[in-house]
Amino acid sequence: RYIMAFESSADETSVAIVKNGVEIISLETATQIKSHQRFGGIVPEVASRHHIEQVTILADAALSDAHLTYEDLTAIGVTQGPGLVGALLIGVTAAKTIAWAHNLPLVPVLHMAGHISAANFVAPIQYPALALMVSGGHTELVLMPKEYEYVVIGDTRDDAAGESYDKVGRTMGLQYPAGKTLDEMAHRGTATYDLPRALMNDDAYDFSFSGLKSAVINLMHNADQRGETVDHDNLAASFQDAVVEVLVTKTARALDNYPVKSFIVAGGVAANRGLRDALTQMLAKRPQINFLPVPIKLAGDNAAMIGAAVDIAYRHGKRGDWTLNANPALEFDYQDM
Ligand code: ATP
Ligand code: FE
Ligand code: MG
Repeated sequence: RYIMAFESSADETSVAIVKNGVEIISLETATQIKSHQRFGGIVPEVASRHHIEQVTILADAALSDAHLTYEDLTAIGVTQGPGLVGALLIGVTAAKTIAWAHNLPLVPVLHMAGHISAANFVAPIQYPALALMVSGGHTELVLMPKEYEYVVIGDTRDDAAGESYDKVGRTMGLQYPAGKTLDEMAHRGTATYDLPRALMNDDAYDFSFSGLKSAVINLMHNADQRGETVDHDNLAASFQDAVVEVLVTKTARALDNYPVKSFIVAGGVAANRGLRDALTQMLAKRPQINFLPVPIKLAGDNAAMIGAAVDIAYRHGKRGDWTLNANPALEFDYQDM
């Protein structure tokens, strides 16, 4: 099976061709970060315009890179949501048009199912599986009793993990998105500041990061008013320690209560070195679990991960018709996404 997949939910336009759900034949991504950076976040209208300009160019490039034609394809897949509606619509419309023109099945998927499915590029996910899905918009523990079954057992009550990195980074004057820079600073610094860890002793698997974010921001403002200096590297290290400790503690508890064969860490924040190291240590004590951290290069948004999710959805019979619409509020509770 050859799947051509489209991703356009935020600020990356990406088209990929994925073979049998496990092999990337081609991947073409255009990032718009530079256009949004001076605004400190994604500007929806700017995003849509970039997606329109790029999507057909990238689709052509993905096909020619793969040395394939549309006749070789099995299905066309696309991120249906969540994300910016105007951005999603470009991918959905491109996918629908190509599927219609070449008489191919159309397969919509949930963006987060895509993030998680990128683990299949490391080794096949064995079920039951658990995923820690950490990105700019989500922080979820997702239980997969079987392939194509997703149950959210833990979620954030306020900010997502990546969002808290971006907001803390903004207060430090760093460029958006700030996760990677803060991660590097954390590795240069030492965790000398005492910061809160929310919901640690709570039995549920929910997360909360807004208190931690506020604590960092208040600490900086207070120091500023007193004319004291804050060591940004040390503050980054302290912040990262708090985020990682909460994520790893909750994940360990979930792994102890749900016996799974594979554990996946996925989403943009899965590129975080501190998080990967701490999870590796935690999983070393659980050698029966197959640890599948998504490759760092595929942690952020890309169409290859969407292709992997589409392959699964396609095999389970999921199809979109010509009325398929972007859904900016799509979540896992749509069961079969
Ligand atoms: P969602 O997937 O929830 O819709 P998104 O697609 O915007 O959100 P991703 O592209 O998956 O999010 O991830 C981007 C986020 O990952 C940003 O918040 C960014 O700061 C964060 N990030 C990237 N690299 C790192 C890192 N090394 N450490 C921490 N955070 C990181
Ligand atoms: Fe994403
Ligand atoms: Mg992104």
